[in-house]
Amino acid sequence: MKKVVKFGGSSLASAGQMKKVADIIRADESRRYVVPSAPGKRYSDDTKVTDLLYQCYDAAAAGGDVEEKLQVIKNRYQEIIDGLNLDLSLEGEFEVIKDYFLRQAGRDYAASRGEYLNGIVLANYLGFKFVDAAEVILFDEKGNFDSEHTNDVLRQRLKNMENAVIPGFYGAMPDGSIKTFSRGGSDVTGSIVARAARADVYENWTDVSGMLVTDPRVVENPEPIETITYRELRELSYMGATVLHEDAIFPVRQEGIPINIRNTNRPEDKGTLIVESTCRQPQYTITGIAGKKGFCAINIEKEMMNAEIGFGRKVLQVIEENGISFEHTPSGIDTFSILVHQSEFVEKEQTVISSLHRAVHPDSIDLESNLALIAIVGRGMKANKGTAGRIFSALAHANVNIKMIDQGSSELNIIIGVRNEDFEAAIRAIYDIFVKVQL
Ligand code: ASP
Repeated sequence: MKKVVKFGGSSLASAGQMKKVADIIRADESRRYVVPSAPGKRYSDDTKVTDLLYQCYDAAAAGGDVEEKLQVIKNRYQEIIDGLNLDLSLEGEFEVIKDYFLRQAGRDYAASRGEYLNGIVLANYLGFKFVDAAEVILFDEKGNFDSEHTNDVLRQRLKNMENAVIPGFYGAMPDGSIKTFSRGGSDVTGSIVARAARADVYENWTDVSGMLVTDPRVVENPEPIETITYRELRELSYMGATVLHEDAIFPVRQEGIPINIRNTNRPEDKGTLIVESTCRQPQYTITGIAGKKGFCAINIEKEMMNAEIGFGRKVLQVIEENGISFEHTPSGIDTFSILVHQSEFVEKEQTVISSLHRAVHPDSIDLESNLALIAIVGRGMKANKGTAGRIFSALAHANVNIKMIDQGSSELNIIIGVRNEDFEAAIRAIYDIFVKVQL
């Protein structure tokens, strides 16, 4: 058994947290490769080291004082080193970092130092080898992640290494300069390492015990999700559920390696298992509910629209030419609606209306704003009858008017549109009918 374990910023924010992390790693010798984030927040209005580094670098680039801001970062690491009683000095590293900042080595270089230094500290504390991600996580000339080259180099490198710490979030371009993934990118590194190491599982340790059926800001204490498929996760993440960086699924998915989301502060919890496929039936018919506010419907009406070939294409071409992405296109015999993000659309609305008139000569165009979309996702829906019926009757009882319905052909999700102000009530009603009644 071989595991790759990634720890997020809050799991590594202080010496106390680092000790928990080391206990978790030492409790299971199959936890061989460790991917750390930079120290995150110790309390809610604390600042992440990554943000301190960006601020420090921006000050340096503007010709301001680096020393004072760098000192705050040095103190964060020193506190951890002292708290762990380590015989380790980062003085030399900080000299190099300051020099690179003054030579304007780039914001990516700056941000990456959080993970780099934390990796050195953690490797020292665990007695594991430190592998600089710049040597094994590789980007091409255009700055795109080079997955196959990385996989070969990293696999070779780890082949004879019993244990290693590989910092998350960054790698290097062919010229050696540092390049980071987007924010939260240590999740991606963990996944890349799991693929290269042919791990049995990729454990992603954070500060929650996995994914919840829905947003705890909307439903009090929602139930956890025990097992979810990659596809279900993608549907829910797209609609706003955040637990993992979007790109973190792809490397492990290529090898069918499961991801286990775990809680550093409650290691006894099983967390959520993210898998390619499973025979385990979900506990409830649905796996999760997620949603977003702020959509707008462009409703087009034209008599005999049904007989006009190419109507839909012309409408969507107008949307495309205006650089707008659309979410759904519910239609009737003489009506065609397009759901778009309000923030993206609002500046362009009048141009779009006149372009649509020119393109398809409709009888009328009506805009309806402040709509919310809710995705009800679950592999269990396919095998169950009456899911849609239960959703609709729950919403009717909650006095919520449904503006739109869309079910994907895979029967993995049902999307409903409601008014923004009905968003919370709708989610609670759906949660209650599928989850609460079964508890
Ligand atoms: N430290 C980086 C960030 O704050 C990357 C990560 O934590 O995954 O975004």
